Amino acid sequence: MIDLKEAAGFINMNNDSVIIIGAGPAGLTAAYELVQNGICPNVLEKGDMVGGMARTKTYKAYRFDVGGHRFITNIEAVQNLWETILGKDLIKVPRLSSIFYQKRFFRYPLHLSDVLATLGIFESILILLSYFKSRSWPFREEKSFEQWVSNRFGERLYRTFFKAYTEKVWGIPCSKIRSEWAKQRIKGLSIVSVTLNALLGFQKSKSLINEFYYPSEGPGMMWEGFKSAISSQGGQVRLNSEAVSLNHADGRIVNVACCINKNEIIEMPVSHLISSMPVDQLIAKLDPKAPDNVLEAANKLDYRSFILVGLIIEKKSLFPDQWLYIQDPKIRVGRIQNFKNWSLAMVPDPQKTSLGMEYFCTDGDELWSMSDSELIRLATKELAGLGLAQDKDVLNGFVIRQPDAYPIYDEDHNEHLGVVRDFLGTIENLQTIGRNGMHRYNNMDHSMYTGMLSAKNVLGARHDLWDFEETYPDVVRKDVVSQRAFEETVIQTFVRMDKLALAIAVGAVSGLFFFLLTVWLIVKGGDIVGPHLQLLGQYFIGYTVTLKGAFIALGYGFFWGFLFGGLFAFFRNFFMAYYVYRAKKKAEFLSFRDFFDQL
Ligand SMILES: Cc1cc2nc3c(=O)[nH]c(=O)nc-3n(C[C@H](O)[C@H](O)[C@H](O)COP(=O)(O)OP(=O)(O)OC[C@H]3O[C@@H](n4cnc5c(N)ncnc54)[C@H](O)[C@@H]3O)c2cc1C
Repeated sequence: MIDLKEAAGFINMNNDSVIIIGAGPAGLTAAYELVQNGICPNVLEKGDMVGGMARTKTYKAYRFDVGGHRFITNIEAVQNLWETILGKDLIKVPRLSSIFYQKRFFRYPLHLSDVLATLGIFESILILLSYFKSRSWPFREEKSFEQWVSNRFGERLYRTFFKAYTEKVWGIPCSKIRSEWAKQRIKGLSIVSVTLNALLGFQKSKSLINEFYYPSEGPGMMWEGFKSAISSQGGQVRLNSEAVSLNHADGRIVNVACCINKNEIIEMPVSHLISSMPVDQLIAKLDPKAPDNVLEAANKLDYRSFILVGLIIEKKSLFPDQWLYIQDPKIRVGRIQNFKNWSLAMVPDPQKTSLGMEYFCTDGDELWSMSDSELIRLATKELAGLGLAQDKDVLNGFVIRQPDAYPIYDEDHNEHLGVVRDFLGTIENLQTIGRNGMHRYNNMDHSMYTGMLSAKNVLGARHDLWDFEETYPDVVRKDVVSQRAFEETVIQTFVRMDKLALAIAVGAVSGLFFFLLTVWLIVKGGDIVGPHLQLLGQYFIGYTVTLKGAFIALGYGFFWGFLFGGLFAFFRNFFMAYYVYRAKKKAEFLSFRDFFDQL
């Protein structure tokens, strides 16, 4: 155990001892926000580089992401931060991605015309027939992901484009993935937006599908930028420093035991602790230990892991896409990244190409247990099997393993997370942030935003991190806010019309109109009173331009107005309902077009 005084050079003891566990996007954002406000935190990172899952590894001067990382956000504060840190090194990349199926490229998001043209007439007819069959005789109950997708797109299209990749990512058959999961993944899409697009010809939010931001030298460049900014303002980002034990008393974390370089342990006093390490690991490190039911619930929070096999290829160009989804079920690779198509600066030699062969797996399974050389051999063989390059073109390879890459939302996820969350709520000075810190399927931007809010809490705010998406409308960018405001107005405009109210209103107005017109002509007088209006008698039987006639006109006017108003409201509601139904279907379809992005 190192004495605290000896460690004084290691930790910031100058002001409040704010400790942040993890130098991934969430932890670094929290630290950045704090140093901006005069607090100098200690960031402990067990790895030897910053960036967490969004780090960039360099191998033989080639840069590799742990999976391609697109920078996309609706959160204005996060976008501003990215731009502040990187300036012009944050480049905009037009997206190009495809599904690779039976050695053919299908642009993804899918375009029906492309699908039909590439598959050929025979397969296209089968897909259309299967679609019509599913529409006419859908599965009555949509219990599984398989049934849910088949009901919407037909079984054949589902098997061709969705089944194999989804099963690779999650490691279980689509028939075992619950349909609620698919519904939840697409719920974010605004049906109103789609309706507006159709009605008024608006563009669907372009940025989300067609282009994204990317640091010119890979995401690691961003996190190195954060690290420098934090250090230059007095914060400490310590690599190879693992939080191994969190000691608590009276509902507060008192100190954190930190293992440096895998051999020395120091104890650091804590005023506030912000943790982005996987929440189940945090629970396991508490001393005294958490109650059994909490430990049990935390243990049940599961993850998928991820392996990236980086290959350097002796070829200038293999395909134009940034990444390919590999649909073939016999090939184990799920996705292939082509890093020079993200940014040319990712490769040192433009005559060569670097690929990231992405494998989804579970800690300890067959893939995870393979040695690096076995994995490189597998990736090389699969690349050749796909016909994208030959064995002899592969110059070098290396492996990145990422445990706990994807939090799994299984049936009992909410229940287990609820138990953990309730318990954490009893520790006053502890906040958990980020993707695994909250066991939530967050992308970088939402992970960062939780970091930002946690820092504000240290400064005295009272943000609820667990519910921030619902609670804080300012998480969305101003252009999105104004679009939403506009949508609200349109919703008000297109609300269902009350048939009876409209019928009475139109009836009353038209009845009164004829009544007053008749009275006015009577008052006006003349040799022949209202000669033209007299003609109305041909339609309103018994009508004359007299006081009695004025009441008859009132009755007729009301009757026809009532009928007209009622029918108008009926047909308008009918067509509106039909339109919204169509828009809903279209919304589902559109969201499915970029469904793989949500996986
Ligand atoms: C394959 C893949 C592709 C992705 N693509 C995208 C994308 O395109 N766009 C996007 O926005 N997001 C993407 N993401 C998600 C993104 O990577 C995460 O949202 C983000 O990295 C989460 O940041 P974080 O700081 O919460 O966690 P992490 O990145 O996991 O960082 C946590 C850090 O804590 C450290 N740590 C853990 N335990 C300890 C301990 N005991 N002591 C000290 N340090 C510890 C870890 O080493 C790590 O560095 C992708 C993720 C994966 C796996």
